Amino acid sequence: MTNSDAHKQVNLDRNIIDRVSQLKAKLQEASYAYYVLDNPIMEDTIYDQLYRELQDLENKYPNLITPDSPTQRVGDKLDRQFNSVTHNIPLYSLENAFNFEELKNWENRWQRQIETIPEFNYICELKIDGSAIALTYENGVFTKGLTRGDGITGEDITHNLRTIHSIPLRLNIDNPPAIVEVRGEAFLPLQEFNRINQEREKNNENLFANPRNATAGTLRQLDPKIVSERKLQFFAYNVYISPENNLINTQKKALEFLQQLGFLVNPNYQFCQDLNQVKTYLDNWEMERKNLPYMTDGVVVKINQFTLQNDLGFTQKFPRWAIAVKYPAEEVTTTVEKIIVNVGRTGAVTPLAIMKPVSLGGTIVQRATLHNVDRVRELDIRVGDTVIIRKAGEIIPEVVEVIKDLRPNDTQPYQMPTHCPECDSILVRPENEAVTRCVNTSCPAILRGSLIHWADRDAMDIRGLGEKVVISLIEYKLVKSIADLYKLKPFEIADLERMGEKSAQKLIMAIEDSKKQSFHRVLYGLGIRYVGASNAQLLADNFNNIDNLIKATKEELEGIYGIGEEIANSVVEWFSIPKNKELVEELKDLNINFQSNSTQHIKEKKLSNKVFVLTGTLPTLKRNDAKKLIEAEGGKVSSSVSTKIDYVVVGEDAGSKLEKARKLNLQIIDESQLLDLIKST
Ligand code: NAD
Repeated sequence: MTNSDAHKQVNLDRNIIDRVSQLKAKLQEASYAYYVLDNPIMEDTIYDQLYRELQDLENKYPNLITPDSPTQRVGDKLDRQFNSVTHNIPLYSLENAFNFEELKNWENRWQRQIETIPEFNYICELKIDGSAIALTYENGVFTKGLTRGDGITGEDITHNLRTIHSIPLRLNIDNPPAIVEVRGEAFLPLQEFNRINQEREKNNENLFANPRNATAGTLRQLDPKIVSERKLQFFAYNVYISPENNLINTQKKALEFLQQLGFLVNPNYQFCQDLNQVKTYLDNWEMERKNLPYMTDGVVVKINQFTLQNDLGFTQKFPRWAIAVKYPAEEVTTTVEKIIVNVGRTGAVTPLAIMKPVSLGGTIVQRATLHNVDRVRELDIRVGDTVIIRKAGEIIPEVVEVIKDLRPNDTQPYQMPTHCPECDSILVRPENEAVTRCVNTSCPAILRGSLIHWADRDAMDIRGLGEKVVISLIEYKLVKSIADLYKLKPFEIADLERMGEKSAQKLIMAIEDSKKQSFHRVLYGLGIRYVGASNAQLLADNFNNIDNLIKATKEELEGIYGIGEEIANSVVEWFSIPKNKELVEELKDLNINFQSNSTQHIKEKKLSNKVFVLTGTLPTLKRNDAKKLIEAEGGKVSSSVSTKIDYVVVGEDAGSKLEKARKLNLQIIDESQLLDLIKST
């Protein structure tokens, strides 16, 4: 595209112009907060994504590039408090790759830059999250230390760097070269970072957002005493020698030489023959790096051979011979295309943001939950907004923030629907609840959710009964309840989309087979609110069959250890609804298993016939929980001490009951002995 074409296109699309200027403003604000105030206003990963978006737009529409764009700047802002000194060799930033594909593109790019590709290999180093520093040694003596600054000029922070013990004040070799320039990363180990922040919290000072900002802030301290109190460290990764030493002609040899000079070199670097080996290194360190005592935010891949490095040289901002590969972000930005509501099997209405697809934690995501109407209001999320999303509990992503400064001009506040999108019934929000519900029990969304849940792996585990099939079954009015599934005939479903006779037979067999599933799975499958797989197991174990459970009172249910008031209420309420009882009767007639495997109930309870008294505050168990535990094992809890008592369980501040127990010579135990008793008998 020529510039004039681009210009035409830009004229056509006001939104792009607005977006570019909004991104510039936001990134500038973030950069200032980050570099000058050492107090970032957004996560680095979010900054990187917005920066990349701006860069992509500028590449597509070069007319929109202005000299003040954050993409045109190199490095940090210089601080006037320190003397500016020009670097002998530029100390630039690194180009970023956010995935392996981009790393391969980088290799292709540098290979196109030279006529014949010589033999080469790579060195992978961990990318330490600190501040780049350049150190000069004259005749072996440390004389000058600079920050990276804008890459051309840095700030002289020599006096501060002298306080870092891993920076030798004199090089550790005889006859050192006249000039040695060492580059590396100053950083704060995590433990030290946490210690500093704890201290700042005590003194009511602003906390550092991350170790990198804490490092930058510390290096810029005017008082070297404060610097020396904060135990900065330094990993060396580059060395330039004058006069030149031809023996040090690879990055690997440079790292070894740095160690000889007396520097700390990060030991986790690796020689890699090619990008496949680089990939293995990247994969290995993705998780492993979390165990390190310092922060890393990626891997730096460097061409090993210095002759090739020299041939490739630098761009305006980066060396062409190295690249930083950053690990996938746990939070990403994207834009909202639509806001919808989803009706679940309990009738709960969940607002969802439908977004421009984006890769998050290894999967492409397009939907994120907004939880409930309060959250929607709090976020003030609108169609067109740029949002930050994160995986919640590893499964459903959630919207964590709306970046309001990037909001387009013509957006409207989102209004939650007043009627169910599936059955048009009026939606209800019970008092004291955050959730809005469709209370029409015949709502197709509720039926759909119930059937999908019934077929779930942890419930009846009916293979082949997925969401699509369920939707078709409801659409063709083949099922109106869970029970109808068991009345289906193969010929009725063979015509459904993507089904056929064979799959139909298989599905009917899978449905029939599910009748053998155990009682707790059936209970879970009914989808009673708060009765998850483990609560279902508890109920099945304690009540043995569905009739006992239907008869159970709230108090009996609450008497079970692990069953609280909310669950007890929900169970009682569910069985009080005639439609649910009818469903259970119908399923019984269809031979669904509503009976526990009896062996669990024959077994002897551990505390049968034992009577306990509880007194004082127990260290971990609430009085009521201890009571439930004892009763679950067949024991009884009495409130008064007498000779009939087997055990007196004593906690802190036990009073007269303990005295009486001693007088009667009763067995006195503490909480841990009680728990041992339950475990061991
Ligand atoms: P960078 O951090 O992406 O990469 C370059 C730096 O990596 C080098 O200067 C050096 O300090 C460091 N490094 C660590 N280990 C290294 C090794 N083994 N070999 C070579 N270098 C190594 O780039 P940058 O220009 O320093 O900083 C830009 C970053 O700053 C962005 O990624 C962004 O996340 C962050 N930033 C964040 C905000 C915010 O608001 N959160 C604002 C501005 C910038």
